Amino acid sequence: MILVLVETDAEGVTLTSREALSFARTLRDSDLADHNLEAIVVGPLADPLRSLVLTHLGGQGVTVVHHADDERLSSYGAAAWAASVVEVATAGSARLVIASGTPRGNEVLAHVSTRLDILMAANVIGVDGTEPLIVSRQVMGGGVFEEMRLEGDVAALSVAGHALDAIPAAMPTEPEVRSFSPALTDADLLTRVVRTEAKEAGGTDALTSARVVVGAGRGAGSADGFGDLLELTDILGGALGVSRVVTSLGWRPHHEQVGQTGSRISPDLYVACGISGAIQHWAGCQSAKTILAINTDADAPMVTKAHYAVIGDLHEIVPAINEELKRRLA
Ligand SMILES: Cc1cc2nc3c(=O)[nH]c(=O)nc-3n(C[C@H](O)[C@H](O)[C@H](O)COP(=O)(O)OP(=O)(O)OC[C@H]3O[C@@H](n4cnc5c(N)ncnc54)[C@H](O)[C@@H]3O)c2cc1C
Repeated sequence: MILVLVETDAEGVTLTSREALSFARTLRDSDLADHNLEAIVVGPLADPLRSLVLTHLGGQGVTVVHHADDERLSSYGAAAWAASVVEVATAGSARLVIASGTPRGNEVLAHVSTRLDILMAANVIGVDGTEPLIVSRQVMGGGVFEEMRLEGDVAALSVAGHALDAIPAAMPTEPEVRSFSPALTDADLLTRVVRTEAKEAGGTDALTSARVVVGAGRGAGSADGFGDLLELTDILGGALGVSRVVTSLGWRPHHEQVGQTGSRISPDLYVACGISGAIQHWAGCQSAKTILAINTDADAPMVTKAHYAVIGDLHEIVPAINEELKRRLA
């Protein structure tokens, strides 16, 4: 069995969990063909979310969904989630336990690997062999790639967020659902989330899930220099992402920051305006499918790495783009 821990949000299975499922399925199809692709969902789920989750899991080719359907798991707790995962992984003799490389996915897998006394690799982006297991993974915010060999019959892997695509299965399934109530001790329930607060509107979720991101760096000039950039964001139906200089100077809020200490994005289009492309920023935007750089410096790293570049002052180029887009969309 390849067991994938799945996280959910209001729309079903999260994008990063679908990426992890897609990664696991590709692995099953190439090197681990005698293993079933199974998923575990922790905590009660009411319809219509339950149906959405099952549709997403079927779309990823999952054959069995283990549902820890227990009121004690209605709020997140790493130890209790790990106990649920360990119960299924042990009963099904899992070869791999996989989760997305989110704070939650990594935390639960760390507990799982300790309980099962197995090795764990975080932020994996590829597998180069299964006997023994050799994986490539991102370290230092994605600036460095590392090859890691994991000895043992079972291993835990978290999949780097937005580094791989969530490709639907060619043959969707109708997964069998096995609901269970895990054996939890009092110690498993000691730590759990007791309160959550909604983020301010347009938080990091809007940025990380946007198909188009308009990026702005020091080249914006000042806190008042974002008008045309926000207009372009609006026209393209995207989200604004900024460099750390911009947040450090207080021009824009931190939740808009892209990079090693901000959000990682993987839009179809990243329009990077007045951003030099320092390695720490690149760590957050390198998964964008197409990058258009607008910069006065033809030698800026963002320009040399971009698919397309316009060399010039963003305060002249962005308004011109806006006018042309408005004319075409009128
Ligand atoms: C531990 C650590 C973590 C970090 N994490 C992050 C992170 O998460 N995200 C991040 O972004 N940075 C991060 N940084 C900072 C990073 O190293 C850079 O300092 C930062 O990304 C630079 O921001 P910038 O490109 O906006 O500014 P600059 O490097 O100053 O570049 C400005 C660019 O704008 C161009 N420009 C200027 N005027 C115009 C104009 N009118 N029109 C068009 N182009 C113009 C310039 O040619 C230049 O290329 C981190 C640094 C450290 C040490």
